[in-house]
Amino acid sequence: MTANKKILVLPGDGIGPEVMREVRRIIEWMDRRRHVSFAMEEGQVGGAALEATGSPCPDETVERALGADAVLFGSVGGPRWDSLPFEKRPELGILRLRKELGLFANLRPALVMEPLVDASSLKPDVVRGLDLMIVRESTGGIYFGEPRGIETLPNGKRRGVDTEVYTEEEIARVARVAFDLAKKRSGRLTSVEKANVMQTGRLWRAVVSEIGKAEYPEVELSHMYADNCAMQLCARPKQFDVVLAGNLFGDLLSDLAAALTGSLGMLPSATLGAPDASGRRHALYEPIHGSAPDIAGKGIANPCAQMLSFAMLLRWSFGMEEDAAMIETAVEKVLAGGLRTADIMGPGTARVGTSVMGDAVLRELDKLAA
Ligand code: NAD
Repeated sequence: MTANKKILVLPGDGIGPEVMREVRRIIEWMDRRRHVSFAMEEGQVGGAALEATGSPCPDETVERALGADAVLFGSVGGPRWDSLPFEKRPELGILRLRKELGLFANLRPALVMEPLVDASSLKPDVVRGLDLMIVRESTGGIYFGEPRGIETLPNGKRRGVDTEVYTEEEIARVARVAFDLAKKRSGRLTSVEKANVMQTGRLWRAVVSEIGKAEYPEVELSHMYADNCAMQLCARPKQFDVVLAGNLFGDLLSDLAAALTGSLGMLPSATLGAPDASGRRHALYEPIHGSAPDIAGKGIANPCAQMLSFAMLLRWSFGMEEDAAMIETAVEKVLAGGLRTADIMGPGTARVGTSVMGDAVLRELDKLAA
């Protein structure tokens, strides 16, 4: 029996609770078949928390998240809350968690599983075998920099201001996450900015180069302007392995990379904080899709992204590489067998709902564990 690992589960809104249910079944399966137990707690976040407590991220949720080894997050938001003022919106739930837990490194894999090669908008040959990881800085840069706001000028016209600002420390800590990843993967890292026109870009390039030279001489580091990177991702995505970017460029490039894989319902993510002296770090895992209000409650959501987020949790927070890989393989085998939720249907495949997809993954896990 492995020691208890404390996971806070935050299903949230819309399809969040539906896809989380399928992860819970995997967790029960692991308890039964792999003799791994987790100490699970469930908390409130997003619209559900707003209705119950008046806050999209109540203090209690933050405290529990701080006390957990890992947070498994569903999704938040929906049309019911769309007319609320900005500071009340369910989406603030995730922003507060990221801030309170100091989660500065967002890891987004873009992986094309062989059975889904045709789901991409690019030609199969361009994306077949694609497996890249975008590391996005997620607590700094232009989304948080001051000054920011909209002001009215003396001439009565309005002016909007955002500020791109990065300190050396902010760049260095996310760069180390990317270098560590590159070391574990192919040993290649592409750092992305606009050093040609932005001062933060110049500093970014300098700091990443210094760290590479001093601490990771074995990693092959290259630099690329963000606009070129967007173009290269569409033209020759397989040239990349780990891509490091600031908040704004990372946001855009990771969505672009997600589109290369063809389905939102398949993509997980992790957001990590800094390790403490014992190596423990706060971490939150979530699918990249939102609460999908258009299909919520219908039992047709694809649970794979949530399951694969759990696999990332096992790998990154608990070092359980074998179990993580087992879940990933089970998902791929189900897809190869032709079962699909509506969002990833292809010619000759059978359409199933959320729980049948979950059943199929459990069956594959049974076979893999036999
Ligand atoms: P979305 O990702 O929720 O949905 C986009 C489209 O993809 C929809 O047609 C949806 O049905 C489909 N889709 C998404 N996930 C799917 C899945 N697992 N299976 C099958 N189909 C799936 O994005 P949106 O519509 O722009 O946003 C809806 C709500 O979610 C908004 O309130 C938004 O603010 C919120 N949101 C939350 C998060 C988060 O919680 N981290 C992220 C993005 C959006």
